[in-house]
Amino acid sequence: MFRFIARHPAAIVLALLLGLVAACAENPVTGERELSFISTQRELSIGDQQYLPSQQGQGGRYRVDPELTAYVQSVGNRLATVSDRQLPYEFVVLNNSVPNAWALPGGKIAVNRGLLVELNNEAELAAVLGHEIVHAAARHGAQAMERGMLLQSAMVVGAIAVQDSPYADYAVGGAMLGAQLLTQRYGRDAERESDIYGIRYMARAGYDPAAAISLQETFVRLSEGRNSNWLDGLFASHPPSEERVRNNRALVAELRAEGVTGGELGVERYQAATAFLRDTKPAYDAFDEAEQLIAQDRLEEASRKLDTALSLVPDEARFLGLQADILVYERRYEAAVQQYNRAIGEDPDYFDYYLGRGVAYSRLGQRQLATEDLQASVKLLPTAMAMNELGTLALQANDRTAAKQYFQLAAQGGGQVSQQAGAAFARLDVVDNPASYVAVQPYVNAQGRLLARVQSNAPITLRNVQVQFRAVVAGQVVTRSAVIPTLQQGQSGDVDSGINFPAGVTPTADQVAVGVAGLSVD
Ligand SMILES: [Zn+2]
Repeated sequence: MFRFIARHPAAIVLALLLGLVAACAENPVTGERELSFISTQRELSIGDQQYLPSQQGQGGRYRVDPELTAYVQSVGNRLATVSDRQLPYEFVVLNNSVPNAWALPGGKIAVNRGLLVELNNEAELAAVLGHEIVHAAARHGAQAMERGMLLQSAMVVGAIAVQDSPYADYAVGGAMLGAQLLTQRYGRDAERESDIYGIRYMARAGYDPAAAISLQETFVRLSEGRNSNWLDGLFASHPPSEERVRNNRALVAELRAEGVTGGELGVERYQAATAFLRDTKPAYDAFDEAEQLIAQDRLEEASRKLDTALSLVPDEARFLGLQADILVYERRYEAAVQQYNRAIGEDPDYFDYYLGRGVAYSRLGQRQLATEDLQASVKLLPTAMAMNELGTLALQANDRTAAKQYFQLAAQGGGQVSQQAGAAFARLDVVDNPASYVAVQPYVNAQGRLLARVQSNAPITLRNVQVQFRAVVAGQVVTRSAVIPTLQQGQSGDVDSGINFPAGVTPTADQVAVGVAGLSVD
């Protein structure tokens, strides 16, 4: 406990500022006493709120083989029942090729199909899920929040960009916390703790803990010769290393010495459950290649890759959705709407199809349908792109207030769309609140002339900046106004009031007032 205070004073200050009550409680997994500001109830509600948007931001659920999800759930439940902390654990398989798995506070766990396809047996899957169960059970996510590792702890509502993450152009608003929880690193101690207790849970549940060694060996093999994009997945938070292989080998030896023997690997069960996944891997490889081709603007080749993917798995909504995206890039909006309809027919629960169809409707001038779709997408995952588009639609409907709110939300992200939205917001807000963007400082020059130094902090170019002067000269109130035709971002300029003070007179502060009376933008 005292070590915690010494190492993380910022967390204590933060808790004091927020008026939170810290409890000294026993960690349910390790049995160690530790300070905690985040209650179990809070952990559960964070998990509940963030689970859906976190899944959406990572490819959505893998739906074409629901039996695979049921199987992963059965393995997860077998481990959950022997864990040291009973939580409302949930397990889903995500439609994502990156070999990754994650846990949110409260026991909400996900594993990507891209990881499942690399494992050899059920015991290796148990090693993955056991590790993630410990992250949730031992409060690693909550601890990270308490230490202030997450800039935004849901209690502190603020606009924080999730930079350098796959979410940069994605999650805004309420979904940003989940994005941070998923992309954070827990730290070496927490990872080691998850390995140690995860292996113990495996043994308790009747699995051969040696699978935790072969799992780490698989990770080392996978990490060799992979690009950084790939490594950003599982390996950013779980760096594969020979050291970890050795550690797990020592842990298993420890268990053997304690008398833990036997345990099953479940090779046949695993191979049967993942047969469809492995058979259809070429389709998903083609899909991943199509995404890369699109990023290089090679749309026709991408389209052909998707045709191949669809010939192998005709009911995969993600394949249809990406074809629709290509049609949007080609500005074939009618055809795009048709293709999004097919994707939604296969999977009505993925944000991207509504977002894409909303954009297509917007380009077709179908504002009502566009707004409905974009709002449906935001309900599943609030994205900068949807918020920005909704802002544009609100502006077209002359609803400046709504437009500003949407643009402000869209500006929270870290990507290019967010920058555009920030500029769109400023364009509206600078007209409504010019004083917030333009600083005006009056001064009198050597000739007794009243001038003002005008400085723009607006992120856009300002036009016709109207400066109002009011001065008391020889007992008379004089008002004048002057205009600066153009003021660039960050630029300052002087403006002349035309008001002269008699020689030798220096006005006092209360005899001079200046302000911005109005301005316009392009
Ligand atoms: Zn981990």
